[in-house]
Amino acid sequence: MRRLLSERARQVQPSLTLALTAQAQELRRQGKDILSFTAGEPDFDTPDFAKTGALEAIHAGYTKYTPTPGILPLREAISAKFERENGLRYAPDQIVVSCGAKHSLFGAFMAILDPGDEVIIPTPCWVSYPEQVRLMGATPVFVPADESTDFLPDYDALRRALTQRTKAIVLNTPCNPTGAVYSRQHLKAIASLALTHDLWIVADEIYEHLTYDGSTHESIGALSKEVLNRTITVNGVSKSFAMTGWRIGYLGAPPEVVRAVSCLQDQMTSNACTIAQHAALAALQNADSQWYDSVRMTFDRRRQRMVEGLNRIEGIRCGAPRGAFYVFANVQGLIGRRWQGRVLESSADVAAFLLEAAGVATVPGEGFHAPGYLRLSYATSEAVIQAGIERMAEAVSQLK
Ligand code: PMP
Ligand code: GLU
Repeated sequence: MRRLLSERARQVQPSLTLALTAQAQELRRQGKDILSFTAGEPDFDTPDFAKTGALEAIHAGYTKYTPTPGILPLREAISAKFERENGLRYAPDQIVVSCGAKHSLFGAFMAILDPGDEVIIPTPCWVSYPEQVRLMGATPVFVPADESTDFLPDYDALRRALTQRTKAIVLNTPCNPTGAVYSRQHLKAIASLALTHDLWIVADEIYEHLTYDGSTHESIGALSKEVLNRTITVNGVSKSFAMTGWRIGYLGAPPEVVRAVSCLQDQMTSNACTIAQHAALAALQNADSQWYDSVRMTFDRRRQRMVEGLNRIEGIRCGAPRGAFYVFANVQGLIGRRWQGRVLESSADVAAFLLEAAGVATVPGEGFHAPGYLRLSYATSEAVIQAGIERMAEAVSQLK
């Protein structure tokens, strides 16, 4: 009998972050007392200024298809935002709005990758990059980094990973899951690799507004016109405006890439939700430094609480991440210990143990190509962080 499913469908892995977030929700639904540090989404509500944009759009009858790359006012607002906040010059016709930044990334990879191409992905990395690259028939090439370099990849290691087939490099700053923020010096090193070896840079900047301890986000495409010409800059409203459910992401890119992404999107989804586009427009028009500062300050307090608390638990250690809203904690000190006669053999085992013994949900490093670590999202209240730390400390003290 012929196989029911395509090779592609049989190979693709589900998103571990989404799966574990759903698992925590399901356990709660069953009445279990679970504290969840899985979700990569802000816990607060979408601001009223964005909601109002959507409500007004509905009442004004903006309920039909729009051009595939998005309504012009939104692309104009994104173009202005890129220039104002990032020093990037993308004309409105160099922008495509998609159904979330995940979709923008998918469109970008689909536009530039052929089967057999290789894409350099510094690890630890977000779960979806390798899978999306593989879905194009291309091969992810991982370049690992650890705490010794603040999770930033070594330039020589990146260079050694290049082959004749390397087509692109993924740059995620601030980084999910490590919180690493690339300095201008790092960006210049990556840009020079891309220029010398004729690579695309896929720059995912979705956590750009969340930086701490004096770190600031810089966009690689702002380095020079030559760099901009080989950069696809991906961003969205999910994280900066707590709009994960609205599904609006966007990219800026050279015209031929934008045409390709838009054409591919014509055949996949058409435009992103019209009402959500109006909400995103209102978000971008109303966002001011006060909004970004208040979000950043809230996350910063939580970050400090999480880092201090985790470092007090024997066997767990972490540095203070400079960006995003995750702590990537080293739990190698817990591996090899026993719980109820079972040995914890991996960070996946540690995550399973914490869920069972402490009712605390985390995402193990395996999902980010970095076993030995756990990712804990601090996009949750300080009270939950405090309670989670206490429960984890109590559970860990029972390990033999
Ligand atoms: N990039 C990174 C690094 C992320 O963590 C996320 C979160 N899901 C996304 C892209 C996609 O965000 P969205 O599709 O919600 O815009
Ligand atoms: N990006 C978020 C995370 O890493 C949301 C889940 C997902 O899309 O993977 O948790």
